[in-house]
Amino acid sequence: MQFHPQIAFEPLAVQNSFQSEELRKLLEYLQHNSPFYKKLFSKHHINIHNIKSVADLHFIPTTSKSDMQEHNWEFLCVPDDRIKEYTATSGTMGLPVTIALTENDLLRLAHNEYQSFLCADGKPGDVYQLMLTLDRQFMAGMAYYMGIRELGAALIRTGPGLPAMQWDTINRLQANSIVAVPSFMLKLIEWAHERGTDLKHAPVQKAICIGESLRDADFELNALGQKIYNEWPVKLYSTYASTEMQTAFTECGAGMGGHQQPDLIILEILDEHGEPLPAGAYGEVTITTLGVEGMPLLRYRTGDICAYYESHCSCGRHSRRLSPVLGRTQQMIKYKGTTLYPPAVFDILNNIPFIKEYVVEVFTNDLLLDEIRLHINTPLPVDECENKMRPIMQSRLRVMPLLQFHSAATIQQMQFPANSRKQVKFLDNREQ
Ligand SMILES: [Zn+2]
Repeated sequence: MQFHPQIAFEPLAVQNSFQSEELRKLLEYLQHNSPFYKKLFSKHHINIHNIKSVADLHFIPTTSKSDMQEHNWEFLCVPDDRIKEYTATSGTMGLPVTIALTENDLLRLAHNEYQSFLCADGKPGDVYQLMLTLDRQFMAGMAYYMGIRELGAALIRTGPGLPAMQWDTINRLQANSIVAVPSFMLKLIEWAHERGTDLKHAPVQKAICIGESLRDADFELNALGQKIYNEWPVKLYSTYASTEMQTAFTECGAGMGGHQQPDLIILEILDEHGEPLPAGAYGEVTITTLGVEGMPLLRYRTGDICAYYESHCSCGRHSRRLSPVLGRTQQMIKYKGTTLYPPAVFDILNNIPFIKEYVVEVFTNDLLLDEIRLHINTPLPVDECENKMRPIMQSRLRVMPLLQFHSAATIQQMQFPANSRKQVKFLDNREQ
């Protein structure tokens, strides 16, 4: 496939017509090669030649995660012997989905991440320390690895965890950039503080942050982002991606949302009825992959709630920018007359200095309503913690959720259950 990264710098009208042309190619490809979409087109009487532009996309039904879970191999468009790698989703939201990549898909993935690092002010000569897993079928780890190589920068694969080893490596090899989960950066800060290390003299200048939002809806640093930045003033870049989309939305230096890569992905934001929403409105991120051979996706609903923006960005790109993730559609909590998403509760807890670790649980109470229970580890006596939390919770959530206190070890077990690739901070124990 030919990549056109410069298209991000073209006006939106140019991007739209480019994407419309790519969309027509994709529809032809799916019609010929995808058992799943062939069936879908025929079932819904869709003549792909009537879909002429991105604006016509809404005539095609969306694809959901459960479609992929139930018909995983019907999405495969190539013979098995063209598959070069099998990756998988984490499985934190039900059954894992396998995404098979061809050689070209791996090249596409590398290109995508190369462009992402460029967007996040990466350059040849940078030294990136990768603090995340490169195995366990995790696509992002390999994507970063390949992207950094293409960038012409150097790599250090330290993997996740082990703050002492991470610091030793940062200092020994003078890593000026890291790729990490924000909450792990807090562990690095804590470790450095305990040993009286002055973080201002650490060689790290920028951090590419994955998995957790750093900003609130106004693009200001949220409690987690602030906590990191106040202690360790490195430049923070948020990213948003998923295994299924095989493409990242990465912030530029302006930090005003993750830039779409128009040559690799079509972005729609849909309301609860599946209707496209305009810029600035929050809805479900729905994507169509461009240039994918193995398992391309058409109008795939990610379950993540975001908005997009089209206003001018100081970096010179005109590509749409994606807001921080407000939450996931399935995780919406109806709580005492309001609706909220777990990240909003995380943000409140991240702001409370005496809460060391937490897990937010939601369950169905006797009245069949959503109820929140906070599992907390705190150095304070239980009564004192509860008294101090009450006014904070009442002002932010209007009510005090149930509290359960745990040792650090128990919380650790709750956050990292066996076989989990990701830290678990939200437990959904609601009756379906
Ligand atoms: Zn920008």
